[in-house]
Amino acid sequence: MPDLSQPAGSRAARHQVQNEDLLFEISSPGKCGYQLPALDVPAAELAHTRQEIQYFPELSELEVIRHFTRLSTWNYGVDTGIYPLGSCTMKYNARINELVTRLDGLGDGHPLQSEALSQGALRIMQLLSQYLLEITGMDAITLQPAAGAQGELTGILLVRAALAARGDARRKVLIPDSAHGTNPATAAIAGYQVENLKSNPGGTVDMSSLERQMTGDVAALMLTNPNTLGIFEEDIHRIADLVHQRGGMLYMDGANMNALVGRSRPGDFGVDVMHLNLHKTFSTPHGGGGPGAGPVAVQRELSPFLPIPVLATRPDGSPRLDFDRPRSIGRVRAFYGNFGMFTRALAYIMANGCDGLLQTTEDAVLNANYLRKKLEDVFALPYPTPSMHEVVFSDSLQAARGVHTGDIAKRLIDYGFHPYTVSFPLVVRGALMIEPTESANLAELDQFIGAMRAIAQEAQATPELVTSAPHTTKIRRLDEVAAARNPVLRWQPPPCASS
Ligand SMILES: *Cc1c(COP(=O)(O)O)cnc(C)c1O
Repeated sequence: MPDLSQPAGSRAARHQVQNEDLLFEISSPGKCGYQLPALDVPAAELAHTRQEIQYFPELSELEVIRHFTRLSTWNYGVDTGIYPLGSCTMKYNARINELVTRLDGLGDGHPLQSEALSQGALRIMQLLSQYLLEITGMDAITLQPAAGAQGELTGILLVRAALAARGDARRKVLIPDSAHGTNPATAAIAGYQVENLKSNPGGTVDMSSLERQMTGDVAALMLTNPNTLGIFEEDIHRIADLVHQRGGMLYMDGANMNALVGRSRPGDFGVDVMHLNLHKTFSTPHGGGGPGAGPVAVQRELSPFLPIPVLATRPDGSPRLDFDRPRSIGRVRAFYGNFGMFTRALAYIMANGCDGLLQTTEDAVLNANYLRKKLEDVFALPYPTPSMHEVVFSDSLQAARGVHTGDIAKRLIDYGFHPYTVSFPLVVRGALMIEPTESANLAELDQFIGAMRAIAQEAQATPELVTSAPHTTKIRRLDEVAAARNPVLRWQPPPCASS
C-alpha cells in the first residue's frame, strides 16, 4: 500500500490525506488575519499592553479557517460510523437531546440563580430522579457526581458512612477480576483494602470463593453487572443474600445498565447502592473527556448520607434544595452536578418512552450476540456464556502468527472503523472487547463483521500486513510507550529561531 503520509517531492497543496503542520510552522512574518481602517482619532495610551508575543503565528484568515476546518474533518465520531469501543457504550446521541438542552431557559440558566427562579430546572432534576429510581428500583438518588468513577467514590463513601452508623466499620472491599479498573481504584481511594475475587470458568462470580472471602471484615462487594465480559451475574440473588447475611453491602457498578433498562432492576435483585453513567446508558456525547454524569441510587438505609444539597419537595409539591442534612457525606461536586447531562438524559428517556427503552436494551443485546455468532469461528471466545450488550474475544488464534489484539485494532482503522477496546478486561489475555450498541443497523454490523473476518484471514496469510497497520492514516504507528512517558505537549521554537 502506498505511504500517503509521506508524499514524495514538494506538495502543491495540503490535502485531506496529508498531515497538517502546526500554525506556528506555517506562520510567515507580517501576515495578519484582519484589516482595520486608518485611525481617525488620537491614539489612546493603554496601560499593560504587550508589544509582542514571541513566535505568535502570523497567518491570513483563510489559512486559519482552512487549518481548523481540515482538522475538524479528521475526527472519527459516533456520527461518522460504528464505534465499537467496549464498555464505553458509544451510542447515537439524538439531536432532540441537544435541542432541549439549548432551550433558552435551560441553556442560559445559572447555578447561582435563586431557588425561586430555578423551579423549572429543579423540576427537571426531580422528574429525572423519579425516572431513574423507577428504572433502577432503588429508593433515593443523587445526581451530583460528574462521572461514573466519581459516582463509585460517592457510593463507597455512602457505604462507609452507613456501616460506621451501624457501629460496624470494616476494612476490605471485594472486587471480582472481571470488574472495571475504576472499581479497585475507587475502593483504595476511599481507604479500603482491595481483595480480588476470582471468576469461575463461566466468567461470573465464583460462589465458593465468595463464601470463603466474604468475612466480617468486608464492607462491600463491588460488582459490575453485567460484568466487563458482558455476562450477567445469574447468581445475583444468592450473591446479594450472602453479602447481606455477612453484614456487608452490595455495590453495583451500573455503567452497563444499557443491557438491563426495562428488563430487570438492581433494586429488585438486592443491590444496596449503585451508580449510573448517564453519558453511556442515556446518551450524551462522550469520549475525549467530555462532561458526564454518574448519579448514585441507594436503598433507604443509605439515604441520610447522600451528598448535600438533596432535592426535596415542599408541601405544595414544588421542588427545593435541602442543605440541612447533618449526616450527609458532604458535597462531592460544586452545585448540583452537570445539568446539561440531566436534560439530555431526560430527553432521551422521554423520547423513547417505556417501550422504546426496552426495545433499545433488547437491540443492544441482540447486536452484540449477532456479532458474537458471526465471528466466533475466526476469533477465540474465552467464555461460552451468552453475551449481554458486549462480547469479549481473545487474540489467541492470531497470536500464534504473531498478531495481537492491538494489531487487529490498528488494522481495523484501515477498514474505516474505530477500534474496539484493546486488552481489556484484564481477565482475558489479548482481549478484543466489542460493544456495537443498539445504534448500529444490520448493514453496518455486516460491514464490521466483514472487516473483522478479512483481518482474521490476513493474520493467517500475511501477518506482517496486520502487525504494521495502520497503512492509510496520516500518522502510522506511534511509539505508545514514548508517547506516554515523554509526551510533547507544546510547540517549541526550533533552536535556530530562538537564538
Ligand atoms: C465507563 C465505566 C466506568 C467509569 O465511568 P466514567 O464516567 O468514565 O468515570 C466505570 N465502570 C464501568 C463498568 C464502565 O464501563
